[in-house]
Amino acid sequence: MRLKCIGKYLKDQGLNIAGVNALFSIIPCWILRPCDMSDRIECEAYTSIKSPCWMASNKGLKCRNTDCRECEVYKLPEQCTGPKEFIKLITNT
Ligand code: SF4
Repeated sequence: MRLKCIGKYLKDQGLNIAGVNALFSIIPCWILRPCDMSDRIECEAYTSIKSPCWMASNKGLKCRNTDCRECEVYKLPEQCTGPKEFIKLITNT
């Protein structure tokens, strides 16, 4: 499902791999899966936009021992909306 969606972004939406990575990197996981400021300042997902939170090498305490594949943030891209709809989805929640 996830790969199909990435394929759709590449083929139909004109994004390249870097664009897909950037899109997933702006998901505000610290809001969607609330964590406090002390967690955020230690977390690469909050301090950097290099990669999606699930690929961060240095995660905050709340995510450190969590299986990302079970997380609602990780599953968001599987809704497979267009880039604009995706941004609306992550900013309206
Ligand atoms: S558990 Fe994983 S996917 Fe969920 S917010 Fe934390 S790092 Fe991101």
